[in-house]
Amino acid sequence: MRHFYASEQIDRVAHLRSDADWVRERLADEESQVVPVWRSRLFVDREREGVDPPLPVLLTVEEASALSHDFRQNSILLGTLEGAAYFAVDLSDIEHPEEDSELAGRGHFVSLRRIGPFIDRTNGGLLAYAQAMVHWHQQHQFCGTCGSPTRSEEAGHWLRCTSDQCWTLHFPRTDPAMIVRVTHDDRCLLARQARWPARRYSVLAGFVEPGESLEDAVVREVFEEASVRVEGVEYHSSQPWPFPASLMIGFTACARDDSINTDADELEDARWFSRDQLDEEVAAGNVILPSEIALAHHLIDDWYRSDRESGIEGKPWTETEEDNRE
Ligand SMILES: [Zn+2]
Repeated sequence: MRHFYASEQIDRVAHLRSDADWVRERLADEESQVVPVWRSRLFVDREREGVDPPLPVLLTVEEASALSHDFRQNSILLGTLEGAAYFAVDLSDIEHPEEDSELAGRGHFVSLRRIGPFIDRTNGGLLAYAQAMVHWHQQHQFCGTCGSPTRSEEAGHWLRCTSDQCWTLHFPRTDPAMIVRVTHDDRCLLARQARWPARRYSVLAGFVEPGESLEDAVVREVFEEASVRVEGVEYHSSQPWPFPASLMIGFTACARDDSINTDADELEDARWFSRDQLDEEVAAGNVILPSEIALAHHLIDDWYRSDRESGIEGKPWTETEEDNRE
């Protein structure tokens, strides 16, 4: 199962990143497209209006070069899509980019978190990929080993320390996080964190620690957050989650018993829901589940539909615009 934000439509052309002539030709090609990123925000043609999904505004190489003078030297190649090359450009140095003559009147910079549920899948993958690469570049302008500036190689996919004493090569990072649907008999464990939008419930998730397997992270996190002991941990699917650099790895697991204790953790509530109870709580407006772009939604939906004619689509679970405001 492939999830939203996975950029499967984009050919990453990894074998061409070191081909300087090919990259130079793409940078001279009028068909090439550039995704502008500004302070973790993406440029879309208008504010979301509910009915019309927002579309990203892409730039030509000329426009990107006018906004970022070293764009051609430090461009980040994303790949190709329908024959055209796609790049990303970081405009974070510009104080008010929406007022710049190149961009004025063309759109707004908005967070991907806010527009994600409303854009199409190809654009979702493209924007998530661009945002993640730009974020990595911002975080690695200087070498983590010696503090010298880094410079871009492999069309933006490597950052090399410029000190000839050091010369360390830095690679794009993605942080593994596990997310798990825990069940006990016919009930599913759903919880909410105090900082989440009101009424939002989901499955448990947490980062994998160094030296730890994914399966062990599942067991540790579920016990840490809800004092629930689990077994039978099985892989479900994965999803890139560029907020800012996670890879969500989804699992299912079974609880040994149904006791829960959330006292020691940041969870505001954690409960076992049967399918009937979930129906009731959703219908009463007490529970909102993650939107269908999230792996969490599908973990819950797969459980729900395994004993029902249909899944949770069509139920009033959808997160609203207000829920996604920052
Ligand atoms: Zn260094």
